[in-house]
Amino acid sequence: MDATARLQAALGLDRREARLEAQILIARALGVERAWLIAHDRDTLSPAQTEAIAALLARRAGGEPVAYILGEREFYGRVFRVTPDVLIPRPETELLVEAALDRLPPDRPARVLDLGTGSGCIAISLALERPLAEVTALDASAQALAVARENARRLGADRITWILSDWYADLSVKNFDMIVGNPPYIAAADPHMQREDPRFEPPHALAAGADGLAAMRAIVAAAATYLLPGGWLLLEHGFDQARAVADLMARHDLEEIHTLTDLAGLDRVSLGRLAAGPA
Ligand code: GLN
Repeated sequence: MDATARLQAALGLDRREARLEAQILIARALGVERAWLIAHDRDTLSPAQTEAIAALLARRAGGEPVAYILGEREFYGRVFRVTPDVLIPRPETELLVEAALDRLPPDRPARVLDLGTGSGCIAISLALERPLAEVTALDASAQALAVARENARRLGADRITWILSDWYADLSVKNFDMIVGNPPYIAAADPHMQREDPRFEPPHALAAGADGLAAMRAIVAAAATYLLPGGWLLLEHGFDQARAVADLMARHDLEEIHTLTDLAGLDRVSLGRLAAGPA
């Protein structure tokens, strides 16, 4: 059975997706670009090459995410290293980065905090797009922070402060202009956790209590303590959580609350601003 048919059968992908994944994995096994592969599809393979391809296809057919097999994923125009210690960056999280950039003027310094940084993709993207910003990124996982630091080093984001902390627990600084985060927001029993990529990702990066809002509550409840007056809180959340997140924000002193939709038209990022205080 050819590679495309095998992935299609094993993973229930449509044919185009399966062909793309097969090409990506074969190119990786051979150490070539996908374009080269397409131009050389009649070349004869050595036994070692055949074996290398079979090994990667077997991993993928077993469900392992492409990003973990390759050890990398593109996000906001840059390539990030990923390991099973971190959530795989998702395209919808680019919306969070864009919304944050919209509120960070390039010609002004700003203090930005990224909660649960994982691979560091949000913190690093913001730091590189806004060189005047002072970015702090925290995560409760030392392994995730190691991946994030490595990404920062490779991508040249050398001014980020990294903190090992369970949300705000070990954070002493309290004067941020902006807090961003893509916290876990899936309900622990949601069947989504047993499907596709999430099966292989760190559960603590995806699932948050019985209703998926446990992390959101902890984050929003204390946000006002860590924000400067007029500072923004921006959170990615589940497609059906906009109302709950907005309510939480309203109950914890945030104003100008609104929700942005992702490319699929789903509610995905909600924002709120700490009252500016007396003028
Ligand atoms: N959007 C991700 C998913 O559906 C979840 C990301 C998260 O929990 N922060 O797999």
